[in-house]
Amino acid sequence: MSKSLQAIRGMNDILPEQTPLWRHFEGTVARLLDNYGYKQIRMPIVEFTELFKRSIGEVTDIVEKEMYTFDDRNGDSLTLRPEGTAACVRAVLEHGITGGGQVQKLWYVGPMFRHERPQKGRYRQFHQIGLEVFNLDGPDIDAELIVLTWRLWGELGIRDAVKLELNSLGTSESRGRYREALVAFLSMHLDKLDEDSQRRLKTNPLRVLDTKNADTQAILVDAPKMADYLDDESRLHFEGLKARLDAVGIPYVINPKLVRGLDYYSKTVFEWVTDKLGAQGTVCAGGRYDGLVEQMGGKPTPGVGFAMGIERLVLMLETLEQIPEEISRQVDVYLCAFGEAAELAGLALAERVRDQLPNLRLQVNAGAGSFKSQFKKADKSGALYALILGDDEMAQQVVGFKPLRGQGEQQSIAWDALAAHLATCIVQG
Ligand code: ATP
Ligand code: MG
Repeated sequence: MSKSLQAIRGMNDILPEQTPLWRHFEGTVARLLDNYGYKQIRMPIVEFTELFKRSIGEVTDIVEKEMYTFDDRNGDSLTLRPEGTAACVRAVLEHGITGGGQVQKLWYVGPMFRHERPQKGRYRQFHQIGLEVFNLDGPDIDAELIVLTWRLWGELGIRDAVKLELNSLGTSESRGRYREALVAFLSMHLDKLDEDSQRRLKTNPLRVLDTKNADTQAILVDAPKMADYLDDESRLHFEGLKARLDAVGIPYVINPKLVRGLDYYSKTVFEWVTDKLGAQGTVCAGGRYDGLVEQMGGKPTPGVGFAMGIERLVLMLETLEQIPEEISRQVDVYLCAFGEAAELAGLALAERVRDQLPNLRLQVNAGAGSFKSQFKKADKSGALYALILGDDEMAQQVVGFKPLRGQGEQQSIAWDALAAHLATCIVQG
């Protein structure tokens, strides 16, 4: 196939065999967030480029080199969203729903776009589920975000495979003081830093902490520590968070080098990481951004949030084989009809059954076929039972009811009694 008729590199189709696991994941998250009182918000996928520059920060990896930016027909510079927080803040400000200190607990799901080098767990179109909470400034809400992800890992069966890393970046004042100390220290070792870190030292010095370069990492061992620069307010906040995680029994490690790639964080930052996915080990990441709303033209409004990468979490479910049995079986009953009259009767019968059992997964064989070929399809569908309508059944107004997974002999069931019979045989999810 010519290249222009193929999908764009790093942008994947999610095929029918994969979607059940995606829906299992998304459904589990949606139910859990409903139960914790979070409300869904849906934002557009495209925004003005300026929105991302202003919120994410000009000198971040995302804005410097990862955005899909283009001019539309009016000459406006637009960007495919690389993340959700900026658009969510824009939306709450535009609609005034955080005004007067109104608390909002929001979540969203959808595709994000970053021009990165595609590899396992890293794509150019990927999907996130994100949470944002506005107008709550205490460590209790930071804790709630972490607690609910902990519950999610439990429900998904991957809790033992993830680890929580925490850090506090302090208020912007304390971070400013720390930045000065770090710059002073790193400047003394300038010639020994890798090229990327030398550049970051000028543009975004905290990001040097994040380096993968071993020589720079060795120098960082003696660098000033953020924890020593935290003001009392940030320290108290961080202690409050840790106390709550301890109360629930959630293990964590403090990672003083955790700085996150985006400019807008303050105080709490955290990541859930795994060693099951190779290099792309962060499955969920977030933190507090008390200054962001004001920076984007709103009244001072505390905020905290996170985003998780759906591809990476689905990969984890596959790797750890945490795939519930019920999602691999998608058909309960498969109806085979032989002959034109039986096909018509079968269609009507199927609809009557669906009226009474709206959750029944009933599939009707489409297209005529021999007894043998229809049966093969019924079996392959994974159904528990086949329903058979042939000349004999038509004459007697019954349907053959045949267990396909070795649960007994074939029986004849009267059309009128079919729904009731199915209801007793099939436990519906
Ligand atoms: P990374 O360090 O892996 O590049 P990030 O810090 O850029 O991650 P965030 O912007 O915090 O990531 O996004 C939150 C989550 O979204 C990540 O933890 C990850 O699970 C997922 N994610 C980010 N970028 C990608 C990508 N290109 N492909 C797939 N998932 C991604
Ligand atoms: Mg990244």
